[in-house]
Amino acid sequence: MTTLSRRKALQAIATAGVAPALASQAPSALAAVSDAAAATSSGAVKAPWSNWSGSAKAAAATLQTPPDAAALQQWMRASTGAVRCVGAGHSFMPLVPTDGTILSLDRMAGLLSTDKAAMTATFQAGTRLAQLSRQLDQAGFGLRNLPDIDAQSFAGAISTGTHGTGAELPALHADVQALQIVTPRGELLECSAQKQPDVFAAAKVSLGSLGVLTQATATVLPAYSLQRKVWLKPVEELLEAAPTLAKQHRHFEFYYLPFTGYAAGITHDVYTGTDVLHPEAADEDMLRDLRHLRDWLGRFPDLRRWVAKKLIDPDQTELAQDRSWKLLSTQRPTKFNESECHVPRELGIACVREVIKTLERRNDVFFPMEFRFTKADDAWLSPFYQRDSCSIAVHAAVGEPYDYLVAEIAPVFRKFQGRPHWGKLHGHTAADMPALYPRWKDFLAVRAQLDPTGRMLNPLLRTLFGVPSAT
Ligand SMILES: Cc1cc2nc3c(=O)[nH]c(=O)nc-3n(C[C@H](O)[C@H](O)[C@H](O)COP(=O)(O)OP(=O)(O)OC[C@H]3O[C@@H](n4cnc5c(N)ncnc54)[C@H](O)[C@@H]3O)c2cc1C
Repeated sequence: MTTLSRRKALQAIATAGVAPALASQAPSALAAVSDAAAATSSGAVKAPWSNWSGSAKAAAATLQTPPDAAALQQWMRASTGAVRCVGAGHSFMPLVPTDGTILSLDRMAGLLSTDKAAMTATFQAGTRLAQLSRQLDQAGFGLRNLPDIDAQSFAGAISTGTHGTGAELPALHADVQALQIVTPRGELLECSAQKQPDVFAAAKVSLGSLGVLTQATATVLPAYSLQRKVWLKPVEELLEAAPTLAKQHRHFEFYYLPFTGYAAGITHDVYTGTDVLHPEAADEDMLRDLRHLRDWLGRFPDLRRWVAKKLIDPDQTELAQDRSWKLLSTQRPTKFNESECHVPRELGIACVREVIKTLERRNDVFFPMEFRFTKADDAWLSPFYQRDSCSIAVHAAVGEPYDYLVAEIAPVFRKFQGRPHWGKLHGHTAADMPALYPRWKDFLAVRAQLDPTGRMLNPLLRTLFGVPSAT
C-alpha cells in the first residue's frame, strides 16, 4: 500500500480542490457528443449526449451551434420544438437533456470589450471561464472569484448559481451588470438593473429557462495575485476555527477527509509580491490511498481511522503564489457525482457536523467533503438570495453508488433550510420552492411571459416549475 506521506496527503487534498489550474481551455462540450454523430447538410447533428460525470444523458434530435446572435435569432424564429442550452455539460442534474434541440454557444465565445472607467468587461456568454480569465488577465483584469474548476461556460455557470468561496464574496452571477438574451420567440432582449429589472433579476440564475444568454457584462477587478495556504488539522479544531478563519481571509474553505478525523484548511489572500510559487504538480495518490483504505479497512472503521491517523502527518503546510485565476480553479481528473446545499451562514457548522456523522454511517464513503462560504445576493433564484450562506458538498466517485448523496444527506440539508445547488444532484420539487425562494412566483411569471409555450423546458424543469407537458 502506498504510504500516506505528508507530501501525498497534500497531493490528495490538492486533488480534491487545490491543484493549480492548467492553462489549457476545457474541452468543448461538443466533445461529449459521440464520434458516431452524423452531420447533416444543414449543419445540425443527430447525436447522443452525456454530461461530464455521465449522470445525465440525452438523445437529442439535433444539435445547434450558431455563430452569432443574429443567426440564433433567425433559427429561433424559423424552428419549432424544445430547445435546451448546453454550456460545458458540467451540471450533474439533467438540466440539458431534451429530445428536441441541444444548443451550444461554443462558437459564441470570447472577450468583446473592457471598460476601465466602469471596471466592467463584456463578453460572449459561451466563453469558458478558463478562456475568460486568460483574456481578462491579458487585458489587466480579473474576475472577483471563481469556482473550483474553470471548464464551465459563463452562461452555464451563472444559470445554476455557480460560486467559489469567500465570506464576503458572492456567486459569479452577482457580478453581472447586464445580459443579452435571445428569447424563445427570437427577439434580442437586453436587461440590467435599469432596463427590464424584473427580467434581469430572473435571468441571472434561470436554469436556461428564459431564452439563450448570448452576452454578459460583468464587474471586474484589476488583475491580482493570490497566496494560498493549505494545512491539515483535526476536524474538530477546524470546525471551531472556521467562522473566524472565514472572516480573516479573502477565501477560506475546508475539505473533510472521511474516516481520518482530519480536514484540510485552505486560504487564499491577495498577494502583492511577484514570486510565483507552485506546489508540486497535484496527483491523485492520496485520493487513491483514501480509496484503498476504504477498500481494505472499510468494514473496520475504527481501524481505518487509526491507520489513517498514523499515516497522515498533521504538521505539513503548503504555500502557492500566482495569478488569482491560476490558483482558484483546479483540474479534477477523477470524475465524481456530487450534491451540494447552501444553508444559512449561522447554521453551517451545525449542519456540517450532521453531514459528517451521516456520511460516516456508510463505510463505503472515501471522497472528501467540501465546506465553503458565499455572500448573499439578490437574483430571484439564487440559492444565496438575501442569505449569507455556507455551502456543503458531498461526492461519490464515478462508477460507485451515489443515490445516497441525495437519499441520505438531503434530509440533513432540509433540516437546516438548505437550498440545493441547481446544477448538482438534489431531490427538491416544485412543492419545496416557494418556501425556499421568496420570489419564486415572480420568477415563474417572468418565465411564462418570455416562454409561454414552454419551448425552453425539459422534463426536469417542467417538474420543478410545475408546468405540465404540452401534449
Ligand atoms: C468537476 C466540477 C466542479 C464543479 N465545481 C463547482 C464549484 O466550485 N462551484 C459551483 O457552484 N459549481 C461547481 N460545479 C457545478 C457547475 O459549475 C455548474 O453545474 C454549472 O452550471 C456548469 O456549467 P456548464 O457551462 O457546464 O453548464 P451546463 O451544465 O452545460 O448547463 C447548466 C445550465 O445552464 C444552462 N445554459 C447553458 N448555456 C446557456 C446559455 N447560453 N443560455 C441560457 N442557459 C444556458 C443550461 O441549459 C443548464 O440549465 C462543478 C461541476 C463539476 C463537474
